[in-house]
Amino acid sequence: MGVSRVRETVTVQESWVYHCGHCQHVWREDFEVHHTDDGHGGDAASYYRGGERSIAPTADRVCGNCGCYSINARPSPRLRREPLMPPPVKPYDLELIFRMRRLHAY
Ligand SMILES: [Zn+2]
Repeated sequence: MGVSRVRETVTVQESWVYHCGHCQHVWREDFEVHHTDDGHGGDAASYYRGGERSIAPTADRVCGNCGCYSINARPSPRLRREPLMPPPVKPYDLELIFRMRRLHAY
């Protein structure tokens, strides 16, 4: 009964910035997010930091500076939540690489 689906895990790097509304302390946390298909069309995400299982980036944080809980979390704009795509190689860059290789050979 039902169609069995292959569980796929997609690993994404996420970077979140936290800002304490009390003392203005700002810090950043990097996460490795494992998105796993739960087999029902849903998405189950597991968060890891430095190889250790971590709580979700949106979970409550305590300010490391003043110990309060008024923390604003937002994804860092530099790293988007989509899987990272390699930058396209421009013909100019390839030409440059070849030229450098030739120079190195001499
Ligand atoms: Zn604080």
